[in-house]
Amino acid sequence: MRSTPGTCHTFVTTVRKPWHASCDGQASTGGAVHARASASGHRDMPALAGPGRQPDLSMELSASRAMPGHGWVLAACLLLLLGLFAALVSTTRLQPEESHPVEVRPLSDGVFELRVELPAEVSERWALWFPREPVDRLQLLAADGWQSEPLEFFAVGAGEGLLPHGYRFVLPRDAHGPTVLRAQVDGGLHDGLRPVLAEAADIRRVEASGIALTGAVYGGLLTLAALALALAYASRDRLFIGLFGFIVPLMLLLQALNGHLYGLPGVRLFGWWGLQGLAALTLVQAAAALWMIEAYTSNGHEPRHARLVRRGSVVLIGLAALFLLNLPWLERLSQPVSAIAWTLAGLAVLAMLVDAGRRGVPLAWALASVGVVAIGAGLWLALARHGLAPGGSLLYLAYQGAAVAFALVLALALTHRIGDYREARERDRLARMDTERRMRREAARADLSTALQIQLNGLDPGEIPWQGFRLLMDHLLPLVPSESCIAVLRDYQGRDHLLVEPSIALPSAEHEINRRSLILRRQATAGLALQQPVRSSPGGPVVAMEALVPFQVRAPGWGVLLLRREGGEGFTTEEMSVIGELARVVQLQVGQAAAAVKLRLSAEMDALTGSMNRRTIDLWTERTFAEAERSARPVSVLFIDLDHFKSVNDRFGHACGDECLREVASALRGVLSEADMFGRYGGEEFIAVLPGRDGADARALGERMRIAVENREVRHDDQRIRLTVSIGIATRQRGEDTPAAAIARADKALYAAKRQGRNCIQVAPAIFS
Ligand code: GH3
Ligand code: MG
Ligand code: MG
Repeated sequence: MRSTPGTCHTFVTTVRKPWHASCDGQASTGGAVHARASASGHRDMPALAGPGRQPDLSMELSASRAMPGHGWVLAACLLLLLGLFAALVSTTRLQPEESHPVEVRPLSDGVFELRVELPAEVSERWALWFPREPVDRLQLLAADGWQSEPLEFFAVGAGEGLLPHGYRFVLPRDAHGPTVLRAQVDGGLHDGLRPVLAEAADIRRVEASGIALTGAVYGGLLTLAALALALAYASRDRLFIGLFGFIVPLMLLLQALNGHLYGLPGVRLFGWWGLQGLAALTLVQAAAALWMIEAYTSNGHEPRHARLVRRGSVVLIGLAALFLLNLPWLERLSQPVSAIAWTLAGLAVLAMLVDAGRRGVPLAWALASVGVVAIGAGLWLALARHGLAPGGSLLYLAYQGAAVAFALVLALALTHRIGDYREARERDRLARMDTERRMRREAARADLSTALQIQLNGLDPGEIPWQGFRLLMDHLLPLVPSESCIAVLRDYQGRDHLLVEPSIALPSAEHEINRRSLILRRQATAGLALQQPVRSSPGGPVVAMEALVPFQVRAPGWGVLLLRREGGEGFTTEEMSVIGELARVVQLQVGQAAAAVKLRLSAEMDALTGSMNRRTIDLWTERTFAEAERSARPVSVLFIDLDHFKSVNDRFGHACGDECLREVASALRGVLSEADMFGRYGGEEFIAVLPGRDGADARALGERMRIAVENREVRHDDQRIRLTVSIGIATRQRGEDTPAAAIARADKALYAAKRQGRNCIQVAPAIFS
C-alpha cells in the first residue's frame, strides 16, 4: 500500500487519519482517509481587499445614478433669475416721467410734420425722442432754418454713445410755444416711428434705463456663451459648441435689432449691409435655432422630421448668404422673407419641443413654454412695427428677455444631458467590466477544463479527486479572493479527502471539519450553495464570511467546498455562481476521469491480481515477437502453473484461493524488471514474456520466480499456506514472428515439469518430439 503520492509535488502534507471518526455517530469505514494542504494556490491569492475584489454590478450602477430631483433645483434657479430680471425691469424707467403729445402728419413718403406745444416754464431744454427703428437716416428741420444733426440706425453717431436706446433730438434752447417741425426719414422701416416729447434730462434717464436693460441682456447671453464653451471643453460634446453657435448669432441679432451692433468697434462695418444684413442675421439665427433644437430633441434617435428640419436650416443659411450679397433689388424682399422664415422656424422649433416633451425629453416642456413667450413677443413686435398692434418699450424687453430665458433653459437642458452621458458611460464601463469578468471566468473555466483533462489522465484512481481539488483551488482563488479554501469529500467508496489552502491551516481545518462534520454533511446533502457568517464564539461578532458549495456525490458520500473571507464582506452572487460553476466542472471531469480509469483497468487488467489480463498479454507478446524478429534479439516465454491448487481451494475455500492467487502474482511480479511483461493467462496459470533474454537468462529468472513463490507464505485464518509453481520455458526461434509456437512449447515444457514432480523448471528444447 503506497503511503505517499508520487505524482503531486505541490502537496506539502500528507496525513492519513480519520477526521470524522467521532462526529456523526458513524464509525470510520476503515478506508484510507486523506488530508492534504496545498501550497500551490496561496501564492496566487491576492491580498485581502485587494483589487481582485469585485463589487456587485447592480449596486455600482445604482450608486452612479444622477442625483434625484435636480429638475426642481433647475426650476428654482430659473424662477430666481426671472425674479431678478423682473426686479431690474420694475426699477428702471422706460418712459419719460412727463411727456407731451406730438401730432404726427405724414406729408409725403419719408416726410412727416410734427406739431408740438413746448411749455415755456422749464429750465431744461426740450427733446424729441424716437424709438430706434431701423431707418437709414433721420433728421429734424424747423421752419426757421434750424436743423438737427442727422442720425442713422446703421451707423451710430459719435455723440450717441455705444448703446443708444433711441434717436434723441435736443431742441434749440429758445424753442417754446407751438412749434412745427419736419422729420425727414430715409429708407428703412419707419412705420413704428412714434416720437415722444419730454425734457432732455428725462429722456437721458430713459436712455440710461434702456442701456442698463439691454446691457443685462447682452451680459446674460455672453455669460451663457462662455458657459457653453466651458461645457463643450469639459464634456467634449459638440452639442455645446452648437449651443455656443446658437447664442452668438442670437446676441448679434439682438444687438443689430437694437441698433447697437453698428456702434461697436470691429463690427460697425456690418452696417454696410443695412436691412439685408439684419435679414441675414435673422435667417442665420433661425437656422441655428432649428439645428440646435433638432439636435437637442432628437436625443440619440432620429425623429421623422429630422431630415426636413436640417434641409430647412440649410435653405435658411442659403437665403442669408443671398442677402449678404447686398443686391439692391433684394432690399424690398429682405423684411417679408426674414419675417416668414423666422415665423416658420419658430413654429418648427415649437413643434419639435412639444414632440420632445411628449417623449419625455428633460426640460422640453419648459423650453416650449419660454419659446412660446419669445416667439409671441417677436410676432407682436413685428405687428406693432407695422402699426397693427399697440407697441411700447416693454415689448422690446419682453422678447429680448424671453430670448435670453430660452437660451438659459436650453443651456440647462443640455447640462442635464451631461448627467445622462455620464450615466450611459458608467453603464458602458460596468458592462465592459462585466464582459471582462465573464471572459476571465470563461477563460478560467476553459483553462481548468484543459488542465483537468491533461493532469487527471493516467493518475491512480485515488489521486484523481486530490488533483482535481488542487486545480480547482488554483483556478478559483484568483477569481474569488479568499483567505482560506477547504475541499472536503467523502467519496462513494468511503475514502475521505481533505485539501486545505493555505497549507498552514491544515491542522485547524481538520479539527474544525471534525467538529462540524454532522452539519456540513447535512448542508452538503441539501445540495444548496450558501454563504454564512462565521462568529468568533456563539453570539459573538462576525469575523468572516464563509461560502459553502456542495459537491454532488452519490449517497452515502458527500462533499463541500468552503471558502472563507475574513471580515464581514460577503461573496457576491457572481462569485457564488463562479464557485459553483468551477466546482461542477471539476466534479464532472473527476468523475469522468475516474470512470475512464476504471474502464481502462477492467479492459486491460485482471481484476483479481492486478496484472495484465490474457487479452493484453497476448497483444504485447505478439508485438514483442514481431519486434524481436526485426531486431534479431532473443525473447523467452515462461508458462507458470500453481501446483496442486485445486486442493488449496478444496481445503481452505475459494476466497483463500483467491488470496493465494494475488500473493503468488505479487511474488512473481516482484522478481521481474520493468521491461518484462506479466499476466494471468487463466485460472491459476500465469505467463511472463521476457524480451532480450535467451534460454539461460530466462531459466535463471524462472528459478528466482519459483523460489520467490516457495518462500512466500500466505496466512489464512491462522493457517500458513505454502505454495509452489511449475514453470515451462521456451525461447523464440529464428523466423518465429508470432508467439503461438513458442507458447505451445512452453506449455509442453510446463507439462514436463509437472511430470517431473512439480516445483521445478523445464526448458523446452528447440523441437519437441
Ligand atoms: P496441478 O496443476 O498441479 O496438476 O494441480 P491443480 O490442482 O493445480 O490442477 P487443476 O488444473 O486441475 O486445477 C486448477 C484449479 O484451479 C481448479 C480451480 O479450482 C482453481 N482455480 C482456477 N481459477 C481459480 C480462481 O480464479 N480462483 C480460485 N480460488 N481457484 C481457481
Ligand atoms: Mg492449471
Ligand atoms: Mg495447477
